[in-house]
Amino acid sequence: MKFGGTSMAGTERIRRVARIVQRQQAAGHEVAVVVSAMAGETDRLVTFCREANPLYDPAEYDVVVASGEQVTSGLLAMHLQALGCKARSWLGWQVPIKTDNAHAKARIEDIDAEALTASMASGEIAVIPGFQGVSPAGRVTTLGRGGSDTSAVAVAAAVKADRCDIYTDVDGVYTTDPRIVAKARKLKNVTYEEMLELASVGSKVLQTRSVSLAMKEGVRVQVLSSFIDDDAPAADTIPGTMIVSDEELAKIQEGLDMERQLITGIAADKNEAKITLTRIADRPGAVAAIFGPLAAANINVDMIIQNIAKDRGETDVTFTVPLADLARTQALLEERKDTIGYYRMLANSKVAKISVVGVGMRSHAGVAATMFRALADRGINIQAITTSEIKVSVLIDEDETELAVRVLHTAYEMDGE
Ligand code: ADP
Ligand code: ASP
Ligand code: MG
Repeated sequence: MKFGGTSMAGTERIRRVARIVQRQQAAGHEVAVVVSAMAGETDRLVTFCREANPLYDPAEYDVVVASGEQVTSGLLAMHLQALGCKARSWLGWQVPIKTDNAHAKARIEDIDAEALTASMASGEIAVIPGFQGVSPAGRVTTLGRGGSDTSAVAVAAAVKADRCDIYTDVDGVYTTDPRIVAKARKLKNVTYEEMLELASVGSKVLQTRSVSLAMKEGVRVQVLSSFIDDDAPAADTIPGTMIVSDEELAKIQEGLDMERQLITGIAADKNEAKITLTRIADRPGAVAAIFGPLAAANINVDMIIQNIAKDRGETDVTFTVPLADLARTQALLEERKDTIGYYRMLANSKVAKISVVGVGMRSHAGVAATMFRALADRGINIQAITTSEIKVSVLIDEDETELAVRVLHTAYEMDGE
């Protein structure tokens, strides 16, 4: 069971979490619980780091930001004990959750679950702070923002759990963020592939890495709400959204005699920035000179378009990078202005990427056309496009984000009551 920041924000909420955990144990389960820091706490700690030193040491950043989860894990263990349950906390280094050395964005390499499973088998509830691990050098690491989801899936895989329930502040995965579109519909099932694509294009209900790990390890993941009464249906009746394999979904829908939805979800991401380099020579190696240095600097380029002006033998290249890497990207390209040979560099951080995702696209034509038409009808201009087998993304003006998501939700006939 994993509980996110809003679920852990304060004494009353943690008490409610403790009751939910107690009920699962009473239903006969051995339980490990992964917790986030209280809502807002990690942001607060990150700010302290930035104030201390804008070029802070990531290893010390990890020492600071990992503390939020240490607090909530101890508190939840106390609340469980107050309810008469046996419980103890297990910090990352105590389990241990072994990661690599990449401070602030570490990857879990191995979880030694022997002591943990023994403790669980003895009837003790294990409470584990999410987001943290221990490096080969024995220092505390963190897994990147939103990383408690990944901790939970990794622990579930390590203890060979029947299920990994991710409790949050919404009661499942919706067709789009229910806080933006009131007509968003809750999905009973989403495939790993779709969830992976949705998370990576901005549906931050699950951290992307947690979904790829679940897919790789075959962990059964359910997303559900912790904001429930004592008499709410038990988690075992799957009241939330189940992440399932393609085959499993096909079987479920066969049983229900259901037509597969063309689009499963829509996501928006305001964390990209657009850069255009104008009048680059149209010759072999020109784009390699741009993207080689960005790759070397670990900057992920997402959308790319190149326009060729036939008469001049020159091209304009437009691409997007994470907003957080914009300044670095500009500096790198400025330095290489002569080698690349561009005329001007234009940057725009006020853009948003809107994506529609669905495995149904594989077998249907016209998904992109519907998107372009619906946006055009509302006067929304498309600045760049990318596609994958199960996704179409467009870049638009950031101010039109909410409108675009709503318009597309209606255009694909996804609106609920
Ligand atoms: P937690 O603190 O529990 O990890 P998060 O804030 O990380 O919670 O994730 C839950 C939030 O994800 C919801 O409050 C919701 O606004 C947002 N969200 C974005 N896209 C979706 C979606 N498609 N379905 C459900 N929630 C979504
Ligand atoms: N507390 C961490 C964060 O806010 C990890 C998490 O909540 O998943 O990013
Ligand atoms: Mg989260």
